[in-house]
Amino acid sequence: MTKSIDDGRKGMKLHTRILLGLLAGASLGILANTQLGGKHPLVEWLNYFIAGPLGQIFLRLLFMIVMPLVFASIAMGVAGLGDLRRVGRVGGKAVGYFLVTTFLAAATGLVFVNAIQPGSGLDPAVRSELMATYAADAESKVTASRTGNFGVETFVNMVTRNPVKSAADGDMLGIIFFGLMFGAALTLIPPARAKPMIDVLESLNCVVISIVGMAMKLAPYGVTALIFGVTSRFGFALLLPLGGYVLVVLGALLFHAGVNMSLVLRFAVGISPALFFARVRSALVTAFSTSSSSATLPTALAAAEQGLGVPPQIAGFVLPLGSTMCMNGTSIFEGITVIFLCQVFGIVLTLGQMIVVVVMAVITAVGAAGVPGGSIPLMVGILAMFGVPGEGIAIILGVDRILDMSRTTVNVYGDLSAVAYVAKSEKLWKASMVPSEARQV
Ligand code: ASP
Repeated sequence: MTKSIDDGRKGMKLHTRILLGLLAGASLGILANTQLGGKHPLVEWLNYFIAGPLGQIFLRLLFMIVMPLVFASIAMGVAGLGDLRRVGRVGGKAVGYFLVTTFLAAATGLVFVNAIQPGSGLDPAVRSELMATYAADAESKVTASRTGNFGVETFVNMVTRNPVKSAADGDMLGIIFFGLMFGAALTLIPPARAKPMIDVLESLNCVVISIVGMAMKLAPYGVTALIFGVTSRFGFALLLPLGGYVLVVLGALLFHAGVNMSLVLRFAVGISPALFFARVRSALVTAFSTSSSSATLPTALAAAEQGLGVPPQIAGFVLPLGSTMCMNGTSIFEGITVIFLCQVFGIVLTLGQMIVVVVMAVITAVGAAGVPGGSIPLMVGILAMFGVPGEGIAIILGVDRILDMSRTTVNVYGDLSAVAYVAKSEKLWKASMVPSEARQV
């Protein structure tokens, strides 16, 4: 069992302080933006010298431990499960759950965007203005989409040639694969030989979790800084013409998390959604403020093990997979955005094409990296399939950060539900094993 990530202070819980940080950052940022404007020298100074560095240090502390954490937790998870057939079964269940929930999410998005049609009324003048404003950004995404495609090579590249290089490049799938092989090999060699390595991995895991604890002490301030950075510079004026689209994405995300996932949690996982939510909220707030499933992985692992009481061999194995492969929120966002942009460009899709959008949204959500804006280059690839110019992505780039924060939160919520589902179906955990509130972070 890992050490608690709480800092041991008496009084306010860590997640409450993080939440207060989020509210403080948002209010100060909105105040600065509306009173002074996003480009005011004071706002720029605050972002450059205070909020920017603080937010970056917090993010970097989290990213710093992601690779060792993924390697150690996957290798130990596999070794802890013991028998390779069991590893296959657990992995199969996890991937099955990822796909079913991601598909459900994309289908929900499709219903929302078709019912409300937010793209039909967008003024062509606004469309041209947005495309002109974000042209340079859009071009870099279009270029990235040419190199970052999801296909056969994605699977071949998973078999990393050099795990050290994969770790250095932030190639999560390569490290997951190496961790799987390493853990599998540990189950195949004589136990007396495996034991010292397992001890090392266990100790590495404890060290990493302890670093998470240190990083999380900074979280309330880091979160304030990150949210201030977004809200103080955000073009709120943009929200007006794109308001319908933003509301459809947020509405579908909320519906998926509040209705679809609640049904899944209640009936497939057997836990009250309110209890589940309360136990994982520190991970959700981290996801919201970092816009990155990978950066949230350390906090999510702590939430799964300490908050929900899921055994480490399941959490350590399923969560790293989930943080790169299970992206419910991203598939909602991608499906809605593709159809929204088709509406904006006057492209009418048939039912068959809509189904292709859903399938592509699921595939690219699985392939997207868990970093801010990780899904955008992949989505540019889908746009091209339906005749929307890749540069059309410019239309939504200005509001993407807010949507990214929200969809990442739903992604992480889905990952954590996957862990609970797999642990329950392996009969290693049930809702009655959730520790009492007093032990929560
Ligand atoms: N930021 C998302 C995540 O990390 C990925 C994306 O949709 O861009 O989960």
